[in-house]
Amino acid sequence: MPDCIFCKIVAGEIPCSKVYEDADMLAFHDIAPQAPTHVIVIPKKEIPSLDQLTEEDEALVGHLVLVVSKLARDLGLKGGYRMVVNCGPDAGQSVDHLHFHLLAGRQLKWPPG
Ligand code: AMP
Repeated sequence: MPDCIFCKIVAGEIPCSKVYEDADMLAFHDIAPQAPTHVIVIPKKEIPSLDQLTEEDEALVGHLVLVVSKLARDLGLKGGYRMVVNCGPDAGQSVDHLHFHLLAGRQLKWPPG
């Protein structure tokens, strides 16, 4: 059994608050939301981080970004939103399974902390 918590969510071994699913992608509400809307979008394929992407993943990453865009429309995020990818310890990545954060619903600061 994989140790990766997001793989366990994909496998249905850990519950999630699902927002979207297709054959290759899954999106669910973050368990510790940092904004009124905080959705995690992941590929079902286990890729630890941006660092491990290869040219073979080009279509997968395009699909991932399109899911974020579709979700932002479907969730009616008219005030704007931010897509964030943390990569590695200095960026605060805590789950080693590639994921995009979709954040919205409050004024987001720049630069991020
Ligand atoms: P990162 O720190 O960029 O790796 O983001 C990992 C995110 O996953 C954090 O925002 C966590 O709150 C979130 N997270 C961890 N476990 C779960 C879970 N079981 N369900 C939903 N979100 C989770």
